[in-house]
Amino acid sequence: MCPDAESGCTVRADRGERVVNEAAALPNAGRFFEIRFESIGGLGAHAAGQVLATAVVLRMGLNGANFSSYGSEKKGSLVRSFVRLGPAERPIRTSAPVETPDVIVVFHAALLRNPATLAGLRKDGTFIYNAPPRLVPEELAGLPRTARVIRVDALGIAVKEQSRPNAVLLGTLCGAFPFLSAETILEALSEEFAGRHPEAVASNERAFRRGAKEFEVLEGVGRAEGDLPVVRPEPAWGYETQPVGGIIPEPGNTAWNDLSASRTGSLPVFNRERCIHCGVCDLVCPDFCLVWDDGEKGGRFERELMGVDYRYCKGCLRCVESCPASAMTKKAETPGLADRLRVPLFPDLIG
Ligand code: SF4
Ligand code: SF4
Repeated sequence: MCPDAESGCTVRADRGERVVNEAAALPNAGRFFEIRFESIGGLGAHAAGQVLATAVVLRMGLNGANFSSYGSEKKGSLVRSFVRLGPAERPIRTSAPVETPDVIVVFHAALLRNPATLAGLRKDGTFIYNAPPRLVPEELAGLPRTARVIRVDALGIAVKEQSRPNAVLLGTLCGAFPFLSAETILEALSEEFAGRHPEAVASNERAFRRGAKEFEVLEGVGRAEGDLPVVRPEPAWGYETQPVGGIIPEPGNTAWNDLSASRTGSLPVFNRERCIHCGVCDLVCPDFCLVWDDGEKGGRFERELMGVDYRYCKGCLRCVESCPASAMTKKAETPGLADRLRVPLFPDLIG
């Protein structure tokens, strides 16, 4: 295990606990090979970055660094994990975010709506995203025409194998880049879980091996020419220009907030025929995403539940568990389902 793994590691191969074999050959001589994991909390992007960097340093004779940035420590918040690989003799002296990656791995399809997810990809780079078969979001047209685009149903495989998307996506990464020894990285992944969750080792191995084989290389997806531009926050705060503490430069609000990226494969589906409009679901929903309206004139109910605004629904399924009439049921989130069923909570503001 990398001694600095908790804080993000930069470890020289010659300080590792293992004797490494002949060093693997990196695809690009003369510069680092850089990977950016785009994810949300709970899908294991940080752990995947740690496993990968640790494995290449301690077992593959390379140098490597990993660190992650978090929106917050809450499940569903944005997480970016960065991995930088280089030859063993070349020190890695930066922990700056990876801005011009060779590879971007997207853990959740909802993140594709954010242009920053694609930003900086090299024209000869590889873009791996997690989505069910046949889902090619229109946002991917913004990728370089010459980039390699790979789709894998990481969530579907993870659910079937009782694993997590990170094991599947690490497998896909190894399948797409043979210099990353799949057996070596799988060994590191298994060790990561052997102590804390021994029952997860076999599940992760199945998920990893499926990820390494069951991916699809898509043709003709990107339309952009050349490297994609780097996206930096505006204004670009620096040493001399950053605001004093306490100032929030990009204020948000609860109406504009979009939690749809927090769902991890399931959502509640409302059946109005079954609903008795008791309001229990509204009592337990932590995000106020249930939409009510006046009941029918002369009817039994003063207020009636109309549906769910999935923009605010994080898929916790408390409404499903608590509904006494089975009017809320858990369904797998297929592409476009939330958009089709959504009832807007603030139709005048966000239709
Ligand atoms: S808990 Fe079930 S029955 Fe009650 S209002 Fe919600 S959906 Fe309708
Ligand atoms: S799953 Fe149900 S309880 Fe949870 S956020 Fe969505 S609507 Fe609310």
